[in-house]
Amino acid sequence: MRQCLTNPESGYYIKKDPFGTEGDFITSPEISQMFGELVAIWCITEWIAQRRPQRIRLIELGPGRGTLMRDMLKAFQSFAPFKNTIVDICLVDASPTLRTTQHLTLCDSATTETEDGFSSVTRYGIPIKWYINLKEVPTDVTSFIIAHEFFDALPIHQFEHTQNGWREIMVDYSVPQVKTALSLPGQTRSFDEDPKFHLTVLPYYTASSKVGPESSPRYKSLPVKSKIEISPESWDVAKELALRISEQRTPKAPTGSGAALVIDYGPAETIPVDTLRAIKGHHFVSPFEEPGTADLSADVDFTALKLVAEQEGHVAVHGAVEQGDWLHALGIGARATVLASQQSTLEGKDRIAKEYHRLVERSGGAMGKIYKVMAFTPRGTPTPVGFGGEVMDQGDDDVE
Ligand code: SAH
Repeated sequence: MRQCLTNPESGYYIKKDPFGTEGDFITSPEISQMFGELVAIWCITEWIAQRRPQRIRLIELGPGRGTLMRDMLKAFQSFAPFKNTIVDICLVDASPTLRTTQHLTLCDSATTETEDGFSSVTRYGIPIKWYINLKEVPTDVTSFIIAHEFFDALPIHQFEHTQNGWREIMVDYSVPQVKTALSLPGQTRSFDEDPKFHLTVLPYYTASSKVGPESSPRYKSLPVKSKIEISPESWDVAKELALRISEQRTPKAPTGSGAALVIDYGPAETIPVDTLRAIKGHHFVSPFEEPGTADLSADVDFTALKLVAEQEGHVAVHGAVEQGDWLHALGIGARATVLASQQSTLEGKDRIAKEYHRLVERSGGAMGKIYKVMAFTPRGTPTPVGFGGEVMDQGDDDVE
């Protein structure tokens, strides 16, 4: 997955801009401005609930075209007290092509080379910097971190629980062997002479199969024949997010400050099984044909992220809740009504209605249901909006 997506020469994200109707897939921020606006509102409500920290950094992981950040920054312009606390924006993306697109979306000024990438200034005058890895982003101020469709691109490992213990499922490159009715016991025949990439259960254990499935009681207790997918790289990022929040501890914010919002697809509670998929031209294709030309992704295991975050930091984890419910709690209905009323044509009104339905629809595996939202906030702060909480104004003591 890592090589197919982010190989510096031939990785899928490195070579092209995959988004939009012309591209391979479309994401919520690309569907409607309402998405970014509501993520912005969530950040503001959380900032208020945490007594308005006076210096904050916005971090986005995998910002794609930069559309979500653009819509968020636009929304922040109506909330001067929040906007004025943003010291800088840090975007983390492995793709040089998309980093250039993000710069075009967000900035008018040229870029300056820095030691660890490049920097510029947004149209709203906020300093902005690009990084390849979250670990490079400074930790000196309170961070509000957004990860939209980032975790699903991180590599997974698959395992099967066999009679002999857990075995890793790996990608092989060989002539596929097929058992037929005419085969003698233990014998296989190959119909196709060309070697192909395909999945195979390794007959012996690997270092990963010894460590991964043993790492949590969630996996250890599963019966023989069970399959699981795990993403240690995702755990590492979740841990880093939790630590960033907990490390901003002060006497007035004893459990830390800042927040992380993770939006992605995957089950809220169960362990993903066999979810590796490839998308090209808005259709599912085999992940093994023409590697590097299709987007690869896997379901996000939200419970695994929650367990890691709770273990590592002084954070409370909220959700995962369904995207449709979260957007409704943030007021997407009212926002869609206002936007539609501002449209002068029926087509315009119809477009807003369609965008709204596409984001919140639950039936038939639609986005409102399969996409989930999870938040990490400092332990002991109020339950955030969208996760059962109300807007809580705790005053404006300087948290720093
Ligand atoms: N958030 C955007 C884009 C989602 S696609 C949207 O919703 O529209 C995934 C994004 O993550 C792309 O920008 C891709 O370049 C980036 N990405 C994928 N794997 C990455 C990795 N390992 N490290 C950093 N960025 C990565």
